[in-house]
Amino acid sequence: MITVLTYKKLLLSIYILLCLIIICKISSANKLRKRDLTSCLVDVQGKKVYPNDPEYNSDLIDENTRVMFTPSVIIYANIVADVQFSVYCASTLNMSISVRSGGHSYEKYGTIGAIVVDITNLNQITINSTAKTAVVGAGSRLGSIFYALSQAGFLAPFGTCPSVGIGGHALGGGYGLFGRKYGPASDNILSMDLVDPTGRLITVTADKYTDLFFALRGAGANNYGIVTSFTFQIYPTPPKVTSISLKYNLTKIQTLFDTTQQLGPTLPDDVSFSIVIDIGSVEFQGVYLGSQSSATQVMSQFVSLSQPTSNQFTEESLFDSVVRWGFQQSNGTIYPYHSPSNFKAKSFYVKPPGLSAQGVQSLVTFMTGLPTTCPTYAVFDLYAGGAATRIAANATAFVHRDVFHSIELFTTLTGDNTTNAQCITQLNSFGETFQSNYTDYSCYQNYIDRDLTDWQNRYYGSNLPALIAAKKIYDPNNVFGYVQGIPLA
Ligand SMILES: Cc1cc2nc3c(=O)[nH]c(=O)nc-3n(C[C@H](O)[C@H](O)[C@H](O)COP(=O)(O)OP(=O)(O)OC[C@H]3O[C@@H](n4cnc5c(N)ncnc54)[C@H](O)[C@@H]3O)c2cc1C
Repeated sequence: MITVLTYKKLLLSIYILLCLIIICKISSANKLRKRDLTSCLVDVQGKKVYPNDPEYNSDLIDENTRVMFTPSVIIYANIVADVQFSVYCASTLNMSISVRSGGHSYEKYGTIGAIVVDITNLNQITINSTAKTAVVGAGSRLGSIFYALSQAGFLAPFGTCPSVGIGGHALGGGYGLFGRKYGPASDNILSMDLVDPTGRLITVTADKYTDLFFALRGAGANNYGIVTSFTFQIYPTPPKVTSISLKYNLTKIQTLFDTTQQLGPTLPDDVSFSIVIDIGSVEFQGVYLGSQSSATQVMSQFVSLSQPTSNQFTEESLFDSVVRWGFQQSNGTIYPYHSPSNFKAKSFYVKPPGLSAQGVQSLVTFMTGLPTTCPTYAVFDLYAGGAATRIAANATAFVHRDVFHSIELFTTLTGDNTTNAQCITQLNSFGETFQSNYTDYSCYQNYIDRDLTDWQNRYYGSNLPALIAAKKIYDPNNVFGYVQGIPLA
């Protein structure tokens, strides 16, 4: 009996000793790794923020507060070489890395890496009016770019929210104002400077690294390297544009959708618009690239058929229309800032001829039935008849071409943790039913969603094999791997 007890004690002591050794090893490995990391990053000029620094927690707050990661360091790149050093260190220390541009990822993926490279300071914009091109630092925000371009008499097609970063936006598509005229932002990229997984800076164009040029324009978000600047095609701005707001009672929503299905695809490319369904209200929010008199004429049949309760055609400068539809003041558009909130969103695509009446009704019933703690709005962006639909699905990684509407369902979570979790469950479950009954299988990668099943095929469709092939060539060690990144196989 004594012997058995002693034997058990001995085993326990050995076990405890082994645990202590393992803990010691892990902690000294962590210390070593931290020392390695700090010394590896010694040549980085920009600020480095570590978990013990007072600003660490606040620096991690960007647009979405629902998700939080805890990287080992946040590096604010001041120059391109800072990005190169950071990538080199991630690669040699075998640490994961992610880049944050505007910090608007719906799943906060800009901060998912152990090393986070924030490129906010790479925000120079240089316009070549003769060539009609602009070189845009990948950390620039949409509002600042719109402002700089408009001052020089140009525009490019980007989304409406001024604080979104061009980095994530253009690499995942980027659809919004002027989308029917010029397609998604990604279709307007002429070249990109990219720091590859070894830390080398390369220029990617249609002629150089052709397969990478294909992959980055739609599937470039933290998959193949860090884009430090874009060269965009830009377009002369008309002297005046016209912002169009048509408001409807929720009870008349079907008339609006019927009209959109009948006339939307035939409207000139100069008209781009979204239908926004909010609690109890429906609004057509659009821009016409031309004068008010011309806009009124172009839209007359649409207005008379859809019967809005009010209609407003406002002739203004291009930049004022950007300010209007960004729902910011002018200053907040030129110098955008974050508005952090707790949110979750779902994405759907609808093929021509558009969403059925039952689909519209199902969406409205869902939205109006949600608890008040999770207010939800839906945005329908019209692609039909526009530039996006005239490019082949395999011309770039942005596969979503034969599309009538892109739909975003956006829920703000204002309750306690339990209520918020219930709202997310309801949203996810509605998303599955809605998709299987009424919409296409695909979803928009810029509205990235960690709860989506089979996301690879939904985001990239028939382009997925080419994207995997490019991943094998340009990031074979998966330095830029993350949970919803392009896989190696
Ligand atoms: C309030 C709001 C409004 C929006 N409005 C629109 C809209 O009108 N139209 C539209 O199409 N989309 C819109 N979006 C979605 C937006 O386009 C995406 O969330 C986009 O990915 C955000 O880019 P970011 O650089 O701001 O975000 P980040 O969080 O910085 O980056 C998003 C992803 O891209 C990667 N990434 C960022 N920069 C680079 C780079 N330089 N090189 C490689 N990878 C990079 C990041 O690692 C991350 O995975 C909106 C989002 C929000 C939150």
